[in-house]
Amino acid sequence: MRDLSGLLFPKSVAVVGASQNPDTVNHAIFKNVTSGFPGPIYAINPKYQEVLGRPCFPRLEDLPEPVDLVVIAIPARLVNQVLLSCGKLGIRNIVVISAGFKEAGEEGARREQELVRIAREYDLNVLGPNCFGLISTRVGLNTTFAPRGAQPGDVAFMSQSGAFCSSVLDWAWEEGLGFSQFVSLGNKAVLNEVDFLQAFAADPQTEVIVAYLEGIADGPRFLEVAREVTRTKPVVILKSGRYEAGARAVSSHTGTLAGSDEAYQAAFRKCGVIRAYSVEELFDYAYTLAKQPLPRGRRVGIVTNAGGAGVMATDAVEREGLEVARFSPATSRRLSEGLPPAASVYNPVDILGDAPPERYRRALELVAGDENVDLLVALSAPHPLLSFRELAEILAQARRDSQKPLVCSFMAGELGEEAEALLEEAGIPSFFDPARAVRSLRALVDYAELRRRPRQPPRQFPVDRATARKIVLAAWEEGRPRLGVEAQQLLACYGIPVAKGGLARTPKQAGELAQKLGEKVVLKVVSPDIVHKSDVGGVRVGVPAREAEREAWRMLERLRQRLPEAELRGLWVQELLPPGQEVIVGVVRDPIFGPLVMFGLGGVYVEVLKDVAFGVAPLSPSEAQELIQSIRAFPILRGVRGVPGVDLGGLAEVLERVARLAVDLPEIMELDINPLMCYPDRVVAVDLRLTVSKEET
Ligand code: ADP
Ligand code: MG
Repeated sequence: MRDLSGLLFPKSVAVVGASQNPDTVNHAIFKNVTSGFPGPIYAINPKYQEVLGRPCFPRLEDLPEPVDLVVIAIPARLVNQVLLSCGKLGIRNIVVISAGFKEAGEEGARREQELVRIAREYDLNVLGPNCFGLISTRVGLNTTFAPRGAQPGDVAFMSQSGAFCSSVLDWAWEEGLGFSQFVSLGNKAVLNEVDFLQAFAADPQTEVIVAYLEGIADGPRFLEVAREVTRTKPVVILKSGRYEAGARAVSSHTGTLAGSDEAYQAAFRKCGVIRAYSVEELFDYAYTLAKQPLPRGRRVGIVTNAGGAGVMATDAVEREGLEVARFSPATSRRLSEGLPPAASVYNPVDILGDAPPERYRRALELVAGDENVDLLVALSAPHPLLSFRELAEILAQARRDSQKPLVCSFMAGELGEEAEALLEEAGIPSFFDPARAVRSLRALVDYAELRRRPRQPPRQFPVDRATARKIVLAAWEEGRPRLGVEAQQLLACYGIPVAKGGLARTPKQAGELAQKLGEKVVLKVVSPDIVHKSDVGGVRVGVPAREAEREAWRMLERLRQRLPEAELRGLWVQELLPPGQEVIVGVVRDPIFGPLVMFGLGGVYVEVLKDVAFGVAPLSPSEAQELIQSIRAFPILRGVRGVPGVDLGGLAEVLERVARLAVDLPEIMELDINPLMCYPDRVVAVDLRLTVSKEET
């Protein structure tokens, strides 16, 4: 782990390029640095003797003492020279604000390479280049040129977009959101999101880590670090920007369904990162996670003085996958004692529009005290009998008295403003829209559940890796990178159950094989040129064994006529299995996060319904279970209306084993087991398709 304390908590600072000219960005930066930082501050600029009353030196070498941090804001072509000076002077922490690097064409890219080289040689912590700087409120440091810095707070923020940084800074004042650290990552030439994730995690001032990212530099390292960090602090990320899968030829269902967004989704899930889909969500979640305790469950109690708001909140609770709490009988009884007959004593509790403060207070107290309630939403519309100010005081008191998270929605504009300061002080998130309030609670629930989630390592299975590898390499060397069901031994090597069967090169062999496999069999064409066998009449299910030879002959004849170009290697003769639930298990490789395992209902509708889920390999037993449970069709697998469920344990184990296979054999680019037949007591693979490559990704 890199030590970034000198970068984030320096004791002295020099600004290279500090300017006396008030119209320049360099001036604004120096002004910001001098406005709050208590330690020694030096300007570096051959043009001046002093800047803003601080001593100014021509070069870093002329400084009377070494500094902890150097901020560089000079033309790009001069930056590396200064960096070299830092290295030689033993100054290890540098913020490069200057643009004109990788983002600016070929010459800039070369310049950035040189910057990285120098940073490596002298082990420098370089933030940027092409960044907006950083703010560290604990030490009063602001190296940005933003007109307003940040309020102190407990949210650490990093962003890959500098422009977004300046927007957020400006907006956060209005919202009352404070920051412990505020970092613009810029080009991430040396330091990237993972380094700051670690640094923020170690900072006692930081409660929540928030990031806006357009990409992740090192997927595996991100996963490893984020997994640890999220154990102690929530991490919320807004990820935007999609890359194109490129010219990669996709030949599997899994490949078709896997985009980079699925990969990020799977990766964030694996390491416990909470994902935001908008700027609003990003900071709603950040604020709520920073200010509210973690709930024990997902049951929401709602108190309102406006029926409509209650209905909106209830809808949102359902939509977000939370539960509308069912109060204990005692709570409803006590509520009815204190409320007018027309009020609702069930969730949502509607204390009616004419409610005076005392009624609101009592209702909230009873709901908060109910053991069947884990989280609270307080709603209110404007009413002459109840000022928002009074209500805010009631909520603040409730928040102090209860260990349960509380958010509110005052459905008002100007009228609600009088309550804002009070709510802010009490750390109660407040939104106009009840749905937004509920959504913020969901982030709390998500994080609480992530924290409680079992952290298991992947299981180690005895596997025959050597043989599996041979099959894959042989395929590659023989120039047939696409394999089908004939490669099922690969699955067997990893302990994945496969249907009995064998390759017949001639109809006669097919007949002989069929006799050994049972009364009825399945015939499947084996050809590197046929992807979907059934589509071309290349699968016959339920062929009587004694007719297998003739049927094989017919199938081959038909295929020869239909696809004269296709190379027909023979037929796979397979035991006939009873009807079962068909699922798909697949593998695809993501350029950032490596092998992903896909799971979904199998059959012809896979690509239409897209009811699939992805997990980053390897998979622990609980991750495999989660993957299975996360598809919409899961109830079908669990069993519905008298139809028995499938062997979920066996299914999860296949996912774990496939994940292991994907990790062990990087030559497998894509793989589909479709279908894997599932029965109440077992699962069996009957079809397989994979693409191998020698270039490891
Ligand atoms: P393809 O996907 O190339 O069309 P499959 O081998 O997946 O070929 O077979 C297509 C369908 O035939 C399967 O989805 C399944 O419903 C059925 N099937 C295949 N093999 C068997 C088998 N051994 N026993 C019973 N049904 C089978
Ligand atoms: Mg198939």
